Amino acid sequence: MLNIILSGAPGSGKGTQSGFIVEQYGVQHLSTGDVLRAEIKSGSELGKKIDAIISKGNLVPDDMMYGVIENYIAHLPKDCKGTIFDGYPRTVAQAESLTELLRKYNMDAIMIDLMVDEQLLIQRLIDRGKISGRADDNLNTIRHRIAVYHNQTEPITEYYLHEGTYFAVNGNHSMEDVFKQVKRIIDRELVARSK
Ligand code: AMP
Repeated sequence: MLNIILSGAPGSGKGTQSGFIVEQYGVQHLSTGDVLRAEIKSGSELGKKIDAIISKGNLVPDDMMYGVIENYIAHLPKDCKGTIFDGYPRTVAQAESLTELLRKYNMDAIMIDLMVDEQLLIQRLIDRGKISGRADDNLNTIRHRIAVYHNQTEPITEYYLHEGTYFAVNGNHSMEDVFKQVKRIIDRELVARSK
């Protein structure tokens, strides 16, 4: 069992790398962004509240997110090979609660941080916006989301460094080259865990 927290700024390639990891290792993929977008699509009252937050590029409050993660972990299939947490945690409080929750189920996780230069992030998100139709993929919101990332999410780096489970990847390269780095980290970790 290997749980992977895939972190990085918006546009760092979390979704793309998650797809590669799922294909290679048969783990499950939990994208909190996808879960929230599904709630918006359902048209529920909660979805309307979430939509107002996401379209401005802000983070959904921690207490709304805890339920999503708790519900996911409580319903994991017994034969689960692990999960990629894509876009979670995004605050230190979320990181602390995830550690506690995983511990409750005798699990842990490593954190892989996709590091990408700001100019490239912006370019990728603008390009994605042309096809994604996502309300938050426009220049003003992109800039705000990157600022939110620096202020609220980046501090989790320190948290996982302290936990001794932090791995950084240079995400400025092609998606195939980035995956080679990701794979090296996961393979090394799997070998270490099999001993
Ligand atoms: P993503 O698809 O990961 O880029 O997420 C899109 C948006 O969903 C983010 O900009 C946030 O508004 C919201 N979101 C996703 N994951 C989280 C989280 N862990 N905590 C708070 N908000 C989140």
